[in-house]
Formats: sequence, C-alpha cells, structure tokens
Amino acid sequence: MANTDHKIPELLAPAGSLEKLKIALSYGADAVYLGGQKYGLRAAADNFTNDELTEGVEFAHKRDKQVYVVLNSFFFDSDFENLLEFVSFLESIKVDALIVSDLGVVDIIANNSHIPIHLSTQASCLNAESGKFWKDYGVKRLILGREVSIKEASRIKKATGLEVELFIHGSMCMSYSGNCTISNFTQGRDSNRGGCSHSCRFDYELVDSKVNKSAFFMSSKDLNGLSLLDEFVQSEIDSIKVEGRMKGPLYAASISKTYKEALTYYSQEKKLDNEKLRYFEQELNKFTHRSYFSGSLESPAGLESVFDERDHKKNQTKVFGTVIDVIEDKFFIIDSLTKVLPGSIIEILKFNEGIITHQLNSLRDLNDLELSSTRPNQLIKVPYISGVAKNNIVRVLG
Ligand code: SF4
Repeated sequence: MANTDHKIPELLAPAGSLEKLKIALSYGADAVYLGGQKYGLRAAADNFTNDELTEGVEFAHKRDKQVYVVLNSFFFDSDFENLLEFVSFLESIKVDALIVSDLGVVDIIANNSHIPIHLSTQASCLNAESGKFWKDYGVKRLILGREVSIKEASRIKKATGLEVELFIHGSMCMSYSGNCTISNFTQGRDSNRGGCSHSCRFDYELVDSKVNKSAFFMSSKDLNGLSLLDEFVQSEIDSIKVEGRMKGPLYAASISKTYKEALTYYSQEKKLDNEKLRYFEQELNKFTHRSYFSGSLESPAGLESVFDERDHKKNQTKVFGTVIDVIEDKFFIIDSLTKVLPGSIIEILKFNEGIITHQLNSLRDLNDLELSSTRPNQLIKVPYISGVAKNNIVRVLG
C-alpha cells in the first residue's frame, strides 16, 4: 500500500514488438502503448499483427496491466475504409484504450465502441479549453503536448476533470508534435503517417555573409524528468510516459525497471533523496542517449535544448542476452547475443528490485567446454546465482 497522500502515476512504456511488451510489463511498467499494422506513427517498428495483439493483451491482463493501441496517424478519407473493422477487433480482444488524434476518428470510435479514447500528443492539446472540447467528444484522457509544463498539466486536469498523461523520458521532437514536415520535404517520408526519417537530427550548414557553420541546429536533447518525479506525483499527473517504440529490449527492460523502482521508492519514502536519485540517474545513463534535459516540464525549452553534438552519450552497457532457463542450485543458461570475453562483468536485471553483478571468470557452453569468447546465438552455462529468473535480461559492462 502506497505510503503517500497522492496517487502514484501509472508508468506507461513503449512496446515496439510483442517481445518488448513482455519485457516492459515484466520489468514493472503498468501499461504499454503499441501500434497495429496500420494507423500508427512508427512504420519501421515491428508493429503488431492481430494475433500478436491478442497475445499481448492476454499477457498484460493476466498481470492486471493495460494495453493502449495507437491510431494517431494523420488520416485521409481512404484510411477510414477498414477502420471500423479494426476497432471492432480491438474491442473484441478488450484493449484498454485507443490513442487518437484525428477528430473524425475520435467521432467514429466514440459512436461505435466502448473503448476509452486517449487524445494523442499529436493533437497538440495545450490548454483546458481544448481539453473540454475533446471531453465533449468522448475523450477520457489527454496526452498533453510536450510543450506543456507539469504545473500547466495539473491545471488542465483540474479544469477539465480528465486524466492527464505527460512524457517523462525519451527522444524529443524540435517541432510541436504533429506539426512537422521536414522529413516529408527532405526525404519524401511523411512524419505524421509513420515515416519520420529524423531529418532534424542531421548535420546542417548555416552559410551567410558572416557565418559559415556546420551544426546540428535542430536536433533536440533527450527528455529526462526523473528528478521531477516529486512534482509529477504532487501534481497528480495520472500517467508518466516513456518514448521509444523503436528502441531495443535492453532499453525496454532498463527504462521500465528504473522508473518503476523510483516510483516504488517514492511511494514508500514520499521523496527521492539525493543518493537514490543519483543511483537512478546512473541507471538511466547506462544506455546510449543524447544529453539529457528536462524539456518543457518546468519552463519552456529554449536554446539549451539543442543537441549540437556529434556523439551520443555512449552506452556503459550493452545487451548480453536473456536467461532462458534456470536449474536451481546448479546453473542458468544465457542465450548470448554478442561477443563477450572471459573476465567480463555482467549485470542481471532482476524483475523485482535490484541488479545482480557477476564476473564471468570462465565461459562454458552447454557441454561444459571452455570458450575463449562467446558468439551471437550461443548458449552459455553460468553457475547458479540466487535471485536469477527465467527471462531476465542480462547486460555486459563496457
Ligand atoms: S523530423 Fe524531427 S522534428 Fe520532425 S517529426 Fe521527425 S523527429 Fe520530429
């Protein structure tokens, strides 16, 4: 039971595939958002087939967790052709909400199903009047634009009586979400229909009579709102959202685990003290990212939000593999994904609190043959360590 006067927000994680859905939920996310084969904004993600959607929802509901499906692409008339059929299917498998931006799509869903509607950040809802309008059309939750601060989100929640969801972590757009056509005009790929090529991340040249400079003028740093967790809770934000459907399984595990542990700690202690905050910040630095900033969560993002650097903050860890079996008191087996040498230090991400750090003094295959290194897709036998569980993600330092 939470030892706090305020409700602890839902942790909403990205699920770019069925594998990542299972990882995110197993590592503590309360809900995931994902796309089907059409209508989402990540054409390059392994979007879910109907069978995968069914399996994903069953997996989530067995654990009392939620699945939200994105239908937030910009719609043309032709896109409506099979929409009702898809919505009926989603209702039949009991998805928990649909994330929508187009008013026509909102109207169709509200009049033909009972699935709760969450207004996508693509609709750029930044104020309470807009929120009230969407409420009249059947919207239950506002996923506010990333330009809205936590305080403004709290005011919008009170004024509309709607749930509010805010991004807390992940990549950012330098434009208002849903209002960018750089990718369309530079690469012929429509940002608002799943094709964003991240043209804003490119190196551009600025040339005029005084300046000749090459820089990443339009690339944004990555959002990290962990240090503002207290404000999210006190402001009664209903859901904190992590970006990253295109990122890998290690990200899905690490991000869900870190934010869940931070929320649990906060619910018990009513604060994140500096030592704990430093620990969680270190965890968020263990995978590749751009420099972090807090976006517009406190005050409008400005010049300091530009990521004018060539190199990303390098990952301090990479994924080693997944624990595929545990033979109690004897050994466990890792399905290795990468080359690792004897002496490497691995970190096993437990589903519950904590990380097991272990040095691989020797490497052995399933026949107990000693190896000079591992190779991708090789099964490795490691002496049993208490606390290791099947499907734990294992990362390697360095
Ligand atoms: S090109 Fe950049 S700013 Fe535009 S939608 Fe894509 S990520 Fe956002």
